[in-house]
Amino acid sequence: MSRKHAFQFLELPRQMPQRIPVELRTSGDWGELYGKFDKADAQYQAGRCLDCGNPYCSWKCPVHNAIPQWLQLVQENRIEEAAALCHTTNPLPEVCGRVCPQDRLCEGSCTLEEFGAVTIGAVEKYIVDTALAKGWRPDLSSVQPTGKRVAVIGAGPAGLSCADVLARSGIQAVVFDRYEQIGGLLQFGIPSFKLDKSVIATRRQVLEGMGVEFRLGVEVGRDVTLQALLEEFDAVFVGTGAYRYTDGGLPGQDLDNVLPALPFLVQNARIVTGGDGWGRPIAGWEDKITLPDLGGKRVVVLGGGDTGMDCVRSAIRLGAAKVTCAYRRDEANMPGSAREVANAREEGVRFLFNRQPLSIEADAEGKLVGVRVAETRLGEPDARGRRNAEIIQGSESLLEADVVIIAFGFSPTLPEWLSAVGVEGQSNGRIVAGGGDRLPYQTTHPKLFAGGDAVRGADLVVTAVAEGRDAAASIAELLHVQAPARAA
Ligand code: FAD
Ligand code: SF4
Repeated sequence: MSRKHAFQFLELPRQMPQRIPVELRTSGDWGELYGKFDKADAQYQAGRCLDCGNPYCSWKCPVHNAIPQWLQLVQENRIEEAAALCHTTNPLPEVCGRVCPQDRLCEGSCTLEEFGAVTIGAVEKYIVDTALAKGWRPDLSSVQPTGKRVAVIGAGPAGLSCADVLARSGIQAVVFDRYEQIGGLLQFGIPSFKLDKSVIATRRQVLEGMGVEFRLGVEVGRDVTLQALLEEFDAVFVGTGAYRYTDGGLPGQDLDNVLPALPFLVQNARIVTGGDGWGRPIAGWEDKITLPDLGGKRVVVLGGGDTGMDCVRSAIRLGAAKVTCAYRRDEANMPGSAREVANAREEGVRFLFNRQPLSIEADAEGKLVGVRVAETRLGEPDARGRRNAEIIQGSESLLEADVVIIAFGFSPTLPEWLSAVGVEGQSNGRIVAGGGDRLPYQTTHPKLFAGGDAVRGADLVVTAVAEGRDAAASIAELLHVQAPARAA
């Protein structure tokens, strides 16, 4: 029964689910930081929604979730209906509820912000986890098979979301990934303290139950040709992500114990989830790195984005004695989520803002000693409106370190197997999709569609979800198939 009355938000403060105590986190607990709401907590928190009539939260959410409507269903304990409604806009709601930077998206535009925004992400996670645990599954009983078949390259959020909507449209989706498990960066990039890997295993069961087929450990362009896929399938979706490391060109970056962020996180994820750390190497990183023992070490992470935050917090869990994040702008201009920065601080990470790395230094024996940095001040905005970090002359110092992790970001590369069939890319490696008289997300090859980081550049899970979902609708249009209607 609903407990709602108009001013519930004044009586009940915003509350997130309980977190793992900091002592456990700093002594190597890799469990998901945030626990789960129980029914009463979820109903209370959902009941804080004002139903303001102008749901900025939905507009700011990149998939335009029907948030006030599913908050109402939670209050009425109609969890399966809430889960079904969540899935009409978002094929991976339990993932987004966990990893979206809600402070910048839905919750950041909640009308109640001044009183503490509704905990939208945590309720989204509660709805879908609860429904799936009760055995609820998407109902495809009214979907008519069309006989059409589409290949999806990449089992990251873009590819999985595309496959979900194709299945709901009666189109057989066959998903190829070079990795042995689905999820892309959900599995091999985002650490398990943000996203437990059992969530992805459950989602795989859901998708397989919907008729999606996975062909894993298959790299397109190596194990199977794109030409073969174009001949076998009615269309192809490309969601291959962004894996080209932004090379800062720092002198000394090739020294031992200087690690690129993604291979560090990927190998660590493989170890944490029970593997030996060795799997298929990441494209562009054909040489496997050796993960040094961080126990008792001083670790410096360069970069202030989500990847940097995952590196500092992983280093803490790996037993580093001192972990420092050096970022060239100030805190207000950090690209990472404010919530992640707060969690990192709580775990003991030290932040040094306005520090520009100049070089990585070694002693006479070639052993890493630290990072030479200069202090910066913010100058004029660049082309994207972000203020440039200008070096303050004479402010150089050495930041001592035993291990340095470089997290400067990623961009896509247009693979040769795509350009060979006429798919155009931009100079920054992004696939050209949509625009002109093409369907949304259609590339310059009529049977090929693309979305996610491969098209946008490195971004967010939820934007990859939105693009994979919408690309599937375009594919359905090309194949003259009716795609499912979305929630209003
Ligand atoms: P990916 O997730 O990269 O998936 C691409 C898939 O394509 C991979 O599985 C890859 O193996 C496969 N593939 C590539 N080439 C081939 C080929 N030739 N043949 C077969 N398969 C191929 N976003 C958030 O919203 N919140 C976060 O907290 C967050 N944290 C992040 C932390 C890290 C360390 C990183 C790197 C990113 C993070 N992101 C986060 C960003 C988010 O993970 C990505 O934006 C998102 O995963 C992009 O989805 P995608 O499907 O486009 O690509
Ligand atoms: Fe918020 Fe992300 Fe869920 Fe949208 S998908 S409601 S932005 S947590």
